[in-house]
Amino acid sequence: MGGDRADARRFAVRSACRTVPAALDAELRGVKLRCSEAGFHVSLTAKNEKAALMNDTPTQDRPDQTRRDTKPLAAVPPPLPPIRSAQDWRDAIVAKLIYGVGKNVFTASERDWFVALAFALRDRVVERWIASTNAIYERGHKRVYYLSLEFLIGRLLFDTLTNLGMVDITRAALADLGVDLDRVRETEPDAALGNGGLGRLAACFMESMATLAIPGYGYGIRYDNGLFRQAIHEGRQHEFPEDWLSVGNPWEFERPEIAYDIAFGGRVEAVRDDEGEISHVWHPGEVVRAVAYDTPVVGWRGRHVNSLRLWSARAVDPLQLDTFNLGDYVGALAQDVRAQSISRVLYPSDATPAGQELRLRQEYFFASATLQDMLRRHLRHYGDLRILPEKVAIQLNDTHPSIAIPELIRLLVDVHGLLWDEAWEIAQGTFSYTNHTLLPEALEAWPVPLMERLLPRHMQIIYLLNAEHLERARAREDVTDGSLATLSLIDESHGRRVRMGTLAFIGSHRVNGVSALHTELMRGTVFRELHGMFPDRIANVTNGITFRRWLFEANPGLMRLLVEALGEQVCDDPAELAGLRDLAQDAGFRGRFAACRRDNKVRLARWVRDHLRVKLDPDALFDVHIKRIHEYKRQLLNILETIALYDAIRARPTAHFVPRVKIFAGKAAASYHQAKLIIKLINDVARAINSDPTVRGLLKVVFLPNFNVSLAEMIIPAADLSEQISTAGMEASGTGNMKFALNGAPIIGTLDGANVEIRDHVGADNMFIFGLTAEEVAARKAEGWRPAEAIAASPALGEVIDAIESGVFSPGDAARFHPIARELRGEDRFLVTADFDSYAQAQRAVDRLWLDQEAWWRMSINNTAGMAYFSSDRAIADYARDIWRTTSLETT
Ligand SMILES: *Cc1c(COP(=O)(O)O)cnc(C)c1O
Repeated sequence: MGGDRADARRFAVRSACRTVPAALDAELRGVKLRCSEAGFHVSLTAKNEKAALMNDTPTQDRPDQTRRDTKPLAAVPPPLPPIRSAQDWRDAIVAKLIYGVGKNVFTASERDWFVALAFALRDRVVERWIASTNAIYERGHKRVYYLSLEFLIGRLLFDTLTNLGMVDITRAALADLGVDLDRVRETEPDAALGNGGLGRLAACFMESMATLAIPGYGYGIRYDNGLFRQAIHEGRQHEFPEDWLSVGNPWEFERPEIAYDIAFGGRVEAVRDDEGEISHVWHPGEVVRAVAYDTPVVGWRGRHVNSLRLWSARAVDPLQLDTFNLGDYVGALAQDVRAQSISRVLYPSDATPAGQELRLRQEYFFASATLQDMLRRHLRHYGDLRILPEKVAIQLNDTHPSIAIPELIRLLVDVHGLLWDEAWEIAQGTFSYTNHTLLPEALEAWPVPLMERLLPRHMQIIYLLNAEHLERARAREDVTDGSLATLSLIDESHGRRVRMGTLAFIGSHRVNGVSALHTELMRGTVFRELHGMFPDRIANVTNGITFRRWLFEANPGLMRLLVEALGEQVCDDPAELAGLRDLAQDAGFRGRFAACRRDNKVRLARWVRDHLRVKLDPDALFDVHIKRIHEYKRQLLNILETIALYDAIRARPTAHFVPRVKIFAGKAAASYHQAKLIIKLINDVARAINSDPTVRGLLKVVFLPNFNVSLAEMIIPAADLSEQISTAGMEASGTGNMKFALNGAPIIGTLDGANVEIRDHVGADNMFIFGLTAEEVAARKAEGWRPAEAIAASPALGEVIDAIESGVFSPGDAARFHPIARELRGEDRFLVTADFDSYAQAQRAVDRLWLDQEAWWRMSINNTAGMAYFSSDRAIADYARDIWRTTSLETT
């Protein structure tokens, strides 16, 4: 690369950093500033200039592609016209509608307005994106790569508007055009590139990294169809592909020039060079191409913008021309279809052990593309791979991306010629791993024959890593043959499988759990032997949620009240929420807090009326259980207790009961029959109760279909009570629990996951805790849990199970729910019967408190007051300090 050009680029980068943010800040404040008129000129074409400044594309690695005869261009993009008024902003949106969408204001649909608005906003974001990227480059700041097979993003419109501080001006600008922002908002499809908590965590973390100005790159897969869309027909779940891209995605940038080849299969050849050194050459059987799509991620107050880069798969040669010419038009496309299947759908995470080869292909596909991208970027800037751990931190969100560990070693040794020991040290210094589950069936373990066939070189590397690892283990005094078998990377007990958790553990310098309890259990159970060998490796970082989405955006009414009561600082420092403890004593404030909730309940009731044709009383207690449907999350416990309450209401037709609405939502993995049967039971019970006049409207049950982020944003602010009732020891953290408590809904729950820490922060008096502890659960299981005794001891529970079994809720099909009754009477693996009475008692305590509205709202407000700790900003600060060893760009 010519010195002149490199100098020019450095210059351009520096000047961009100096001028752009000032210009933008000024612009936001409505001050007109024409910094670019200073006119730094460099002789790059538009394409390369963009690459140099922002896109960070590999095009620059290639020989000079500039066209020397072009007119010089400004190094800094010209600033956008300032937005000084709603009219300015309206004009900018209209310009996008006309020139970006190709519509005029008279024919535009709400969807068109959404796209126009997104384009107009994206312009504002891109300005900052360039500045942020330049600042990272200029300072040589450490980069964090967050690798996740899931990013449950949801909609981005209000994230962007809120973080840029442009909600009000946008509402006014659109109103001027006769367009309603809230209706425009509804036209954005949910990006459902995740199953549940793990994927939503990744999305919250991206937002917090941008907020804290930590240079963070999210990396994942751009699934054409994310998680399935759930429809409920006759009470049963049906799955349909979610077509979130069918109307385009205005937030993303396709980067066709950023593409990497990903190899699969074939064989490995050991080659000896002149000096007798052996190197390994992988001759793959198949190559697939990964193409990048970038989405900017805006932090709070728009100060910093990070990137989410998602990979899409395609064939290297999209069309087999010779096959086509022979008349086989379908066969000519077969390779492309096969390649594209890699980024087609998201697998349900906690289905039966994913034996699917496609899943492994997905994992390797995105891990390899990401590492190639990371190494390219690093080498271009620093030229020295040995300093990788100083400049890069890679976080593995669960084991799904852990094939990245042998992939990095392969790239360093086979491609870049580093020594094995060097490569291993670099890998350990760079990687860290977050564990999300202790459930044995959810711990990934790939069959060795599959690995050998699909990733032959990686399997060799894993064998070598294992040999060294076991040698180190053997050298320890406390290690026996039994513990060696447990420590091994290869599980020999179930037909030889590679333990991805063990791989992630030994290849990382830090391994973290996601709540204090979960981390403790990790040390004591799944990773007990590894913890003995590496006692400093396991750390805890309790999960968090972004308050911008889950409070500011989801509950604008409450947010307005909080700002009024606590001051604007509460937007930047959640510690200010503690001020609510005093306000909880103030009747006037309680009334306003309760009024916000009621408004949200009215809105939810309207939605339920329109979509389910069930009428809800907004003054009833809204008792909400929304999350993936899984036996460990115990929706079954809830519906059994609901049936018991139904029995009680019918048995005492004149007695007073607290009016309740039981609200359920959640998807079950398509192959998880028991979970799907639980959905059917909930719906059958709902139909029976909602249509029974003897219930006198005191109890309603609704199942809201197609649970996703947007639905959660609507339901949570309307909740009075939050169901977090997993079998203790099984929920790693939970983040739903945090969203509810932040919005002032007390938890009815077990001492599981982050519930334990929420209790520490909001106070045990402000929750309804019940049930066995994790320790007690383990003890029951150890002595052999027998549900028969629990059922015999609880007449109410016995009646409920009898009713289900005898077909009370499935007239004409008495056998329908027998699998549920059988599980309850048989193994009861999730100790539903053990906790039933204790749960029912906790529910009656809820009723009593509800009757004392003053006490109820004190409790509610105290929940919001105690939640500062559960901001994902805190979690990200913990990761940055303890795991990534990096800082905010703003502090350097
Ligand atoms: C927060 C969230 C989850 C996780 O909920 P848990 O109660 O922690 O299991 C799952 N899905 C969506 C859409 C969410 O927003």
